[in-house]
Amino acid sequence: MKLDTLAVHAGQRPDPHNGAVTVPVSLTSTFQLAGIGKLTGDFEYARSDNPSRHALEDSIAALEGAAHALSFASGQAASTSILSLLVPDDEVVTTPNVYGGSYRLFHNVYNKYNIVTVHAEQSSPESIQSALTDKTAMVWIESPSNPLLTLIDIAEVAERVAKHRNRKGVKPLLVVDNTFPSPALQNPLALGADIVAHSCTKYIGGHSDVIGGAVAVNDETLWQSLKFYQNAGGAVQGPMDCYLLQRGIRTLPLRMRKHEENAYRVAEFLRGHKHVEQVIFPGFEDFPNHHLVKKQMRGLPGMLAFKIRGGVKEVEQFFAKLKLFIMAESLGGVESLLCHPASTSHAALPESERNKIGITDNLIRVSVGIEDAEDLIDDLRNAL
Ligand SMILES: *Cc1c(COP(=O)(O)O)cnc(C)c1O
Repeated sequence: MKLDTLAVHAGQRPDPHNGAVTVPVSLTSTFQLAGIGKLTGDFEYARSDNPSRHALEDSIAALEGAAHALSFASGQAASTSILSLLVPDDEVVTTPNVYGGSYRLFHNVYNKYNIVTVHAEQSSPESIQSALTDKTAMVWIESPSNPLLTLIDIAEVAERVAKHRNRKGVKPLLVVDNTFPSPALQNPLALGADIVAHSCTKYIGGHSDVIGGAVAVNDETLWQSLKFYQNAGGAVQGPMDCYLLQRGIRTLPLRMRKHEENAYRVAEFLRGHKHVEQVIFPGFEDFPNHHLVKKQMRGLPGMLAFKIRGGVKEVEQFFAKLKLFIMAESLGGVESLLCHPASTSHAALPESERNKIGITDNLIRVSVGIEDAEDLIDDLRNAL
């Protein structure tokens, strides 16, 4: 079935006992056993598995075209379980502009277990390939990246990684953080990735009312390992949150179309404004690697960034004048949000590192919501 249909129906079987059309929220921590070692139904203890999470995982797997998905308490919990696959002395190769929280997890948590992260010189398949060593066990990329929306050819990275063998004689695992495009716009497993990671907090949930995460894989052994870490670590998605996410998913493809339409309108407006130094939007024909939008995506999310003329003072004045856009971290909700990456999502990066990759003090990231584009543009025009 096609995406719009899967979004509405996948994981949404009517309840076999009473026909409830929407999956009931399963508020139980445990399930009665029929005898020693005998389950009554499919479930035993809710951390290991439960009907609400099972339905959500089926739904995310269907949207990613994956054999399996697992859901977690946050995007970072999902990332943590993926990194649990590594052992001391393993290396992770990533790009310079990876999500700030991933950067922190690599450098301030896993580094102390002697799992070392190496940043490729650039966000390019060639650069990633040259960073691979006999210790590389994992390659971690994002496209479009946060916050500069850098595009990287996922299939080409997958091809180059597939040729590499590390000291254990195995190919490094390719992980794609697919949060920005959401499964509605890009499916990395079909492009050769081994693991897809999501912060469901963003477009999948879509209403800025839940924190969640997910991973999707095709490989059975990989799924079993990740499922083991999901249960062992226990950072699982609660049943109420599973319900909210599944409710969000039903309108995901619909929302993404409106986010995209509005993003084009807002990007065009900003590009022509005299107080704007630069607009970063992958939809522009002259955006680096713009051809990848058609090659590997079904459209664009509502994400763009721009550099206002000036510095922190001008950013602050601009933010203070906005009436509709809300200044907040996060993205992907129905309401339009603006943030200042240098002091929020990427504050974990040293300043020198930030400037090097273009996260300057005058950079503003925009998550364009699904309001009327005219109202959004009026608000920006007034504040600028
Ligand atoms: C938000 C985000 C994360 C982390 O997700 P949480 O749900 O906040 O833990 C990871 N990757 C990207 C690209 C994100 O935007």
